[in-house]
Amino acid sequence: MQQNLLDLDAHALTAYLTEMGEKPFRAKQLLRWIYQAGESDFSAMTDIAAALREKLSRCAIITVPDILKEELSDDGTRKWLLNVGTGNAVEAVYIPEESRGTLCISSQAGCALDCSFCSTGKQGFNRNLSVAEIIGQLWWANHRLGRNNEGNWAISNVVMMGMGEPLLNYSNTVSALRLMLDDQSYGLSRRRVTVSTSGIVPAMDRLREDCPVALAVSLHAPNDALRDRLVPINQKYPLKELLSACRRYLERAPRDFITFEYVMLDGVNDSVQQAHELVKLMSDVPCKFNLIPFNPFPQTPYKRSRLDAIARFKDVLMQADIITTTRKTRGDDIAAACGQLAGQVLDKTRRTSAVLQKDEVER
Ligand code: SAH
Ligand code: SF4
Repeated sequence: MQQNLLDLDAHALTAYLTEMGEKPFRAKQLLRWIYQAGESDFSAMTDIAAALREKLSRCAIITVPDILKEELSDDGTRKWLLNVGTGNAVEAVYIPEESRGTLCISSQAGCALDCSFCSTGKQGFNRNLSVAEIIGQLWWANHRLGRNNEGNWAISNVVMMGMGEPLLNYSNTVSALRLMLDDQSYGLSRRRVTVSTSGIVPAMDRLREDCPVALAVSLHAPNDALRDRLVPINQKYPLKELLSACRRYLERAPRDFITFEYVMLDGVNDSVQQAHELVKLMSDVPCKFNLIPFNPFPQTPYKRSRLDAIARFKDVLMQADIITTTRKTRGDDIAAACGQLAGQVLDKTRRTSAVLQKDEVER
């Protein structure tokens, strides 16, 4: 079997080449070719000895998942459907803004956590994406969109907010993050790479040690009773533990706050009284809030909060000096907005019940 080099971070690539009898600096050269030059053809890698190029073209490949579909929204948002084999497909979304280009990437085919308002969760879970399938989303987007006027790749920011729970695919996620940050590859700053999690406490602690990038936590409720219903993993890692993990994370985080995401569900979690309860809950966690108007999908019982309810909720937080933004809904005409990503997933599990029972943090 040929080795896909996109599956190897710098450490693993060095080990691979050393095993072939090559010098470690070859790994740096290869990383620069693959990620900085966006090259996938070994024969074009002119500063690599011909014999090694030849050897690599026999034993290795550089390949990303096939693109099944590209959709372009009226607002410039682009969504790609990537084939990850065996009937599964995942989605990546590019969101252009004036000063940055953000790519929202997926970490799993489906998600086992079954949050009640999430379209990905409703699809069930099939499998973790490989490192190549995660970093391949970024490689592909840069390849497709090219460089901007300053000569930089189009993607300046990455958010792991697509399909799946990144911290339940821990080691592949961390290898992919390292490739995003590595100076030989994309060299993105830790502040421009965000992992979004529903709150897998032990994995948050590991991430703090292994690769502390910016963190977003999907909160969605001001108390355990409601969060247990909306985000069932809360039954395993309740708010008190989650917020302690957030405080610990801040000791090594690249930013001095955690971003909390809060989906606005009409009549469920959007009252003024709940906003006050949230302010109290957050009293000792440096934070910013991002209110996400609920994005509907077929068969959901939920409705998006009314604009005036969102504004009132935001006011309560702002009056308590919590910086709060309301997420602009981008790309909803092509179902590319948060939580609308569904891809195509063949469910292999019975989701949360299975996950809640086993220790889901892969060792
Ligand atoms: N599993 C991770 C990352 C993927 S979900 C997590 O839960 O954080 C990315 C964000 O989209 C999360 O904050 C999630 O709660 C939110 N989201 C999910 N479904 C949504 C929907 N239908 N409308 C708006 N936001 C949604
Ligand atoms: Fe999974 Fe995140 Fe969706 Fe919850 S919100 S089901 S954790 S992808």
